[in-house]
Amino acid sequence: MSPLLEVEGLVKHFPARGGAVRAVDDVSFTLDAGETLGLVGESGSGKSTVARLVVRLLEPTAGVIRVDGTDVANLSRRRLRALRRRVQIVFQDPYSSLDPRMTTRAIVSEPLRIAGRSDEIGTRVSEVLAMVGLGREHERRYPHELSGGQRQRVGIARALAVEPELLVLDEPVTALDGSIQAQIVNLLADLQARLGLAYLFIAHDLAVVRHLADRVAVMHLGRIVESADGAALFAAPAHPYTEALLSASPVPDPEQERTRRRIVLSGELPDAQSPPSGCRFRTRCWKATTACAEDPGPELVDRGQGHPVACLFPDSPPEPREVEGAG
Ligand code: ADP
Ligand code: MG
Repeated sequence: MSPLLEVEGLVKHFPARGGAVRAVDDVSFTLDAGETLGLVGESGSGKSTVARLVVRLLEPTAGVIRVDGTDVANLSRRRLRALRRRVQIVFQDPYSSLDPRMTTRAIVSEPLRIAGRSDEIGTRVSEVLAMVGLGREHERRYPHELSGGQRQRVGIARALAVEPELLVLDEPVTALDGSIQAQIVNLLADLQARLGLAYLFIAHDLAVVRHLADRVAVMHLGRIVESADGAALFAAPAHPYTEALLSASPVPDPEQERTRRRIVLSGELPDAQSPPSGCRFRTRCWKATTACAEDPGPELVDRGQGHPVACLFPDSPPEPREVEGAG
């Protein structure tokens, strides 16, 4: 059986003065029905570009995206519409992604209308609003009359209106306050259990996907550098970039939190228009040797545990150049 979503060799280069921004550079992953893949990396690593490619808001420079085994490029208009129903997106900032001139009811009705299902608006809108914890009193409100959490609930309701199988969640809680974040994450977990949805859950903080993701893929400067079962990745991160991200992420246990070592990366994320040769992480890596500068750079290698890592030295003990004790 084919995976629900299969992404193979995905590339997106944006034309820029004097070259191209290599936002996504050979990314592959799969996602099964009902499963959650966490896609994590710092800002600028190409996560939103992957999200937009998957829902075809962007055309890839190269690579293939298959839904249920069907290549989504060059589909007829009718089949593209069917695909759009199956794969929906929720954006990071519900304030800028929701039309300020539209009421909740109009926003949630829109995908039904586009799908030629206007006759269902009467029943379906209140049904999906109830699913996300909103009532009839919210139907007539405009985005600015709602709280941040309520706005994101409207964004989720809109995505659910046409009964998708996969939600691409592009940092759905990043713009929200801490306690509201937890409420939305819990809502997403409940909806997944009830509806059997698959999630491509994008976050810049590993902590956000910790309890939701079956598998996690770590993205750095346009490439996936490591992927594994969630538990395996959190217990034994093998790529130094993953170690650094994990060290920056608070842990719930107060004792562990007190003694947590923080790896401080030296330097900024390199420019996506002129990434380093070889391993794109090497300019910030405490393990890097001259071998790491050689093109094409380390490939993802699975060392037999379903845990591929793109690093020449995944097993050598970490010797961070700059480590701050947190205690
Ligand atoms: P993330 O979501 O991980 O922060 P993005 O996918 O938004 O990353 O961006 C990845 C890189 O692509 C960044 O360098 C960003 O500036 C660039 N980028 C994104 N969209 C465009 C665009 N439409 N045109 C040019 N560059 C872009
Ligand atoms: Mg983004």
